[in-house]
Amino acid sequence: MVECHKFVNSRFNSNSYIISHSTFNDVWIVDPGDTDNIFLWLEKHSKAIISGVLLTHAHFDHIYGINDILNHYPNCPIFVANIYGEELLHDAKKNGSRYTEEGSIVVKDGARIDLYKKELDLWSDTKASIFYTPGHSEDSVCILVDKMFFTGDTLIKDTRTVTKLKGGSEGKLENSLSQINTLMGNNLVVYPGHGDLFYLDDYDLNKSLIKKVGYGDKA
Ligand SMILES: [Zn+2]
Repeated sequence: MVECHKFVNSRFNSNSYIISHSTFNDVWIVDPGDTDNIFLWLEKHSKAIISGVLLTHAHFDHIYGINDILNHYPNCPIFVANIYGEELLHDAKKNGSRYTEEGSIVVKDGARIDLYKKELDLWSDTKASIFYTPGHSEDSVCILVDKMFFTGDTLIKDTRTVTKLKGGSEGKLENSLSQINTLMGNNLVVYPGHGDLFYLDDYDLNKSLIKKVGYGDKA
């Protein structure tokens, strides 16, 4: 059975998630932030390996735990959407960390960075499906594992999605939300990059947009 544990991070209020499987002793981490509680959780649950880091996008508040993870698991692959995401990982200005009080965050040299394909095998009986959903950033993805839908900053409960940062686009967000709209009716639970979990079915995706486009009419 696949399970997910949520952590709310101390530094930027972002959410990190551990995805685990009852019959395997490795886990996957979504958007690592604070790592002390992640390592404690792994120890407590006898999980020995982090098989990979799945990024919803590479803004500073979703990546700041990566180097700690690499200190423990140097070969752990970091999955990003595309070249833009890869750039963000290496550029404190582009990933936004340079403008925070706490200063620059870049992924250390030698990190193994992999680009997502449409699907990723997490375990022998579990796949992750990757949906490319630009709009908040050029490298935003949503990740579907069973009924769990990880949306990063593309879809946050009762919150208009930020599209004004570099690489953001309201038009692209609209297309991405149209894609997400097709997943309605599957009992998916949204695991967002900030805030509470919520059910996708019946959620009004217009709340994410400046200009409403009538997703509600289609649903
Ligand atoms: Zn972001």
